[in-house]
Amino acid sequence: MRRWTRRELGGLTGAALLAVTSFRLARGQARPRVIVVGGGVGGATVARYVAMTGNNIEVVLIEPKTRYTTCFFSNLYLAGLRSLESLSHGYEALAGRHGITVIHEAAVSIDPAAKAVGLATGTRLHYERLVLSPGIAFKFDAIEGYDKAASEVLPHAWTAGPQSELLRRQLESMEDGGVFAIVIPPDPIRCPPAPYERASLVAAYFKQHKPKARVLILDAKDTFKQQDLFEEAWQRYYPGMIEWLPAQFTGGVKSIDVKGRAIRTAGDTFKAAVINVIPAHMAGDLARQTGLADKTGWCPIDPATFESTMQKDIHLVGDAIASGDMPKSAFSANSQAKACAFAIAAALTGAPRGPPHLFNTCFTFLAPEDAYSNAIVYRPQADKLKALHTFVNQVNEGPEIRQRVAREARDWYRAFTADVFGSSG
Ligand code: FAD
Repeated sequence: MRRWTRRELGGLTGAALLAVTSFRLARGQARPRVIVVGGGVGGATVARYVAMTGNNIEVVLIEPKTRYTTCFFSNLYLAGLRSLESLSHGYEALAGRHGITVIHEAAVSIDPAAKAVGLATGTRLHYERLVLSPGIAFKFDAIEGYDKAASEVLPHAWTAGPQSELLRRQLESMEDGGVFAIVIPPDPIRCPPAPYERASLVAAYFKQHKPKARVLILDAKDTFKQQDLFEEAWQRYYPGMIEWLPAQFTGGVKSIDVKGRAIRTAGDTFKAAVINVIPAHMAGDLARQTGLADKTGWCPIDPATFESTMQKDIHLVGDAIASGDMPKSAFSANSQAKACAFAIAAALTGAPRGPPHLFNTCFTFLAPEDAYSNAIVYRPQADKLKALHTFVNQVNEGPEIRQRVAREARDWYRAFTADVFGSSG
């Protein structure tokens, strides 16, 4: 059994220290340790499933925040249809019910040779296997005038929490007749339908509270998935309210004037009362800074085990990976996390492991009681995650079908977050 040094224990505070010391004193012999960095959807799921699957494995989860607010359903919050509190989840069940040691700190370094992770306070923790699910970082140099400081004025709201609250306040205080502009980056982005869902749900809010307001979408793409479903819904629910301008029309967004509330494209300049700029993405900082990402900015993995192809005994899941056909979504992160947990448990305990079955289902709201779903099965093929079967709702379906999908989406949220965090609260 590896002993904790005074320096390591000194780096842990309060509840984290109590949890680690009592956990260590309770056990008699060494167990392999899996460290998971990032307590979002991917990381929390890996931690929970390794703890459930390999009962002889010690699991440590490192996440700076004490509560996690989901991006999924945050567009419903922006439209005033859900509270932010209802989207926030704690780590108590992972620690209490699953015996996971949760340390609320940021990981700042990885030493693959020594198999150790460094925390912000100087603590160094050793692992048998390390899993990273750090999510995304933003390319703040992609559009002139839009850096991190600008995002505190013109929010991206592409991470949920204070950014979502800022955008909601701006939408609430916007005058009727104003324009709300959304700037959409090139792919790959987390949750590809979410910008268009945001446009739809904000339009639903305007329809009720500011009927003369408009939504303007400036897209870096020329087409988008399920465009027919969105365009039909925009025509049906919000005629004349939503304008979508593809890159071939504008020539692309070139710069943002934060003070003047203006967006300059290759052709025209657009003024808007509220501007939501979603910057282009790359893998989360820790993954890139520790050499786990390639030149694309994403982390290549073995699709059967989610082990990094760049570093042995380090696995990655979620938005940070180069995920082939799989979209960057919470559902994907959760499905990848389970496959990764089973692969780690098999490697460390000799438990049997079959080929992974991976799924993604995106529920997308077109209106408060109209949602569609898009379900796809994936398999590892060669070195990629390949899509096999697809189901998606169709245009011109009856309202009862879409209302049912909207109900299923709300049920999915409850069941899904319980699966990730081990409890429904
Ligand atoms: P995250 O959930 O972002 O978690 C990353 C975690 O890592 C964070 O908690 C962070 O604090 C932590 N972290 C980062 N760096 C460190 C470090 N150095 N040390 C310790 N911890 C660290 N998906 C769906 O499936 N369905 C939807 O309907 C849906 N809707 C969406 C709507 C919107 C508006 C958006 C923006 C996204 C939506 N998504 C949806 C996508 C979904 O939220 C993400 O794909 C999912 O959260 C990815 O999980 P992850 O674990 O990769 O990253």
